[in-house]
Amino acid sequence: MRTLREGGVLRVLRRLLSTPEEIIVARALEISPPRCPECGSGSLVRIGGIVKACGLRIQRFRCKVCGRTFTELEGTPLKGLHDIKFAVVVAYLVLCLGMEPKTIARVTGRPYSTVIRLSRKARENEAFFRKLFRALGVTSVTRYPNQ
Ligand SMILES: [Zn+2]
Repeated sequence: MRTLREGGVLRVLRRLLSTPEEIIVARALEISPPRCPECGSGSLVRIGGIVKACGLRIQRFRCKVCGRTFTELEGTPLKGLHDIKFAVVVAYLVLCLGMEPKTIARVTGRPYSTVIRLSRKARENEAFFRKLFRALGVTSVTRYPNQ
């Protein structure tokens, strides 16, 4: 059923696009809780936050054991991304629909180099992103069935 399938994809994309980045980050941290990148300790102190250009506030931590400071995204594949939501959308298109980066760049109007980098990140962290999709309520559409 072609229309049903496409409706499913659109529903998923709409859900992802309407999910605030705060929620995406919160779910990501449930999958990958903050831990010191230096010594691995989970014993941390909150030391304020960073506000990104998009308005998203990222919590910073200091490790009680070794004193290293880092952000809550440090141990997640979302670290260093300018547009977290777009990264999640690309991950969905690549991992769940098997869409080519070239196609994603064309339909989203984003630079091919960005899409390539994000799709590589998605593939390298497939287990994380699949857990994230489930946590965000994206379960219905998995892959286009062969027919
Ligand atoms: Zn540490």
